[in-house]
Order: sequence, then structure tokens, then C-alpha cells
Amino acid sequence: MPEKVLVTGGAGYIGSHACKALARAGHIPVTFDNFSTGWRDAVRFGPMVEGDLLDRGALDAAFEKHRPDAVMHFAALSQVGEAVREPGLYWRVNVGGSLNLIEAALAAGVKRFVFSSTCATYGDQDGVVLTEDTPQAPLNAYGASKRAIEDMLADFAVSDGLESVIFRYFNVAGADPEGEVGEHHQPETHLIPLILDAVDGRRPALTINGTDYPTADGTCIRDYVHVMDLVEAHVAGLDWLRAGKGSRVFCLGTGTGFSVREVVAETRHVTNRTVPMQDGPRRPGDAVTLVCGSERARTELGWQADRSTMAQMIADAWRWHQNGHYDR
Ligand code: UDP
Repeated sequence: MPEKVLVTGGAGYIGSHACKALARAGHIPVTFDNFSTGWRDAVRFGPMVEGDLLDRGALDAAFEKHRPDAVMHFAALSQVGEAVREPGLYWRVNVGGSLNLIEAALAAGVKRFVFSSTCATYGDQDGVVLTEDTPQAPLNAYGASKRAIEDMLADFAVSDGLESVIFRYFNVAGADPEGEVGEHHQPETHLIPLILDAVDGRRPALTINGTDYPTADGTCIRDYVHVMDLVEAHVAGLDWLRAGKGSRVFCLGTGTGFSVREVVAETRHVTNRTVPMQDGPRRPGDAVTLVCGSERARTELGWQADRSTMAQMIADAWRWHQNGHYDR
């Protein structure tokens, strides 16, 4: 049966791909977004509500008008550097906004909640393949705000019977292979789009953030997941809740890490172009190695990260980079 899902942040990178996956699965995604970082052009798969999570009245009106069956919550500030400089923003927007959202959902009788959390809730755990049971120790207000929201969901489960599926993941990459939506951040801080900017001359060169880390080639290692695989897990999370399976946390990763230099080499291979680059200093706050397993998601949700090969992620990102764009 089709479900109506209020998707906060539906105009953003992951949210817009989630809306596409929901629509493809026969659901109706209702985007709720304040367009602070999202794009109107990215809202293509269902109704749109312009509103802010800090505005409880706007949330109540959206629940009243659209009567969703469930919530999928992506909207958040997500830049670690900014979180370190301005922690108040992260506590106010991410935590305060989510509290409004949860209370508005419960007031409207909506008790199913899929939440986009992060492996930044774990902090620096170099060398460990993270699982759902790894203790969380966030290092900054971004990770702390996401963990606080996880805690909040647990509290409202006890008080009001709220049921949630929480996904924790790291580096999301790639784009819709059909090119309807893609990754567009302003400013861009993520590795793969920055490499592609250097490839096609939008930027003079990629700067490698540190080349003296204790890894085989001296650069940081990350776990990259294809955005389409990632959002399919979110749709499966919705099904999980609808089937009455109850609250659950899932990590989403491939369990395989790639160094910055390996990502650059693969980009050279996929695009058949040179990647202008220069060595730079370490970026404050970067962990050496972050890799996360997905045993639970695979066994319990039937999740398969089929598209999450580095070549596929870069090829899809490159196609979008060359052909896709958004106007606000
Ligand atoms: N990185 C880099 N140069 C850049 C941007 C990123 O060397 O211009 C590195 C970054 O330091 C990290 C990896 O690429 O080791 C992935 O960074 P990204 O910002 O994409 O994701 P994060 O791991 O911070 O979530």
C-alpha cells in the first residue's frame, strides 16, 4: 500500500534521492524544506512544503494538510567545521528542530520515524570497523547533535510509542544514474565533487588534506556508499516499521575503505582525464581511518550495496557533474 511520507530535507542531496526512491516504490514523498541548502529544482517526485523545522506552526500545518503516515528526517546542518565554530547553531537547528518535528508528528498521530544519523556520532575510532554496538563518543557539535536526536527518539519511544529506524553512515557519493537529481552543495566540501571540479577546470586543483597519515599512501581512508544504495535502505526502513518490527539502528557502509589517493586514481581512470592536485596540510578534526560494517542491514533489511563500487560512484557523479545542475 502506498504511504505518504513527510521527507524533511527533501530538496537536499540525500533527501532528493530518497524522494525518488520512495516514489519509485509507489509511495508519496512530501518534501518539507527551508531551502537554506536545498534546491527547488531537486523537488521532482511529490508535493513540496516550504517551511522551517524551528517553526512549529509550519510543521503542524504540513501534518494537517498532507496527513503523512510516516516521517523521514534528513534536514540538518552537517558541516563539521561550522559545528566547531558555531555549536549553538547545531544544537538549535538540529536538536531543537528535531524536537519540534517529533512533537508535531506525535501531535498528528504519526509514530513511524526514519532518521538519518551519522557515523560522526562515534567520534575518532581509528582502525575499528564500526558496528551498531560500537560506543558513541562524538567529537563535535554535529555528531553530538545527531546523537542527541537518537536519544530523543528513544525517550519518545518510551513516553509515546514512537518507533524509529536510525541509519548511521559516513561518506555518501554518486548520483541518480538517470540524472534527475545529483549532488550540489554550496559551498562544496566533499572529496569526489571537488576532484571532479579539478578535472573539468572549475577549480584549479584538488588539495589533498594531509599526506603524512599512518596509512599505506599517507592519506585518510573513508568508506563511501552510493547515494542510491543508501536511500534504498531508508525505504526498507520504512517497510520495516510498517511491518511492526519496532525500533532499530542500522549502520550503512561497505566495510571497505578508500584512501584519498585511491579515490583520485579511480577518478583518473573513470574520466580518462588528469586530476590536477597538490599536497596540503592535514584538515583539523580528520580521523585517519573510518570504515563501517553493514552486517545487520544486510541480514535484517536485506540491504545490498550493489552500486557502491568506487568506479560506479565516480561514473554516476561524473555524469551528473557534466550534465546536471540546479537553479534555485
Ligand atoms: N579531502 C581532501 N581534499 C578535499 C576534500 C576532502 O583531501 O578538498 C579529504 C578529507 O580530508 C577526507 C576525505 O577527503 O580525508 C573525505 O572528505 P569529505 O569531506 O568528502 O568527507 P568526510 O570524511 O569529511 O565526511
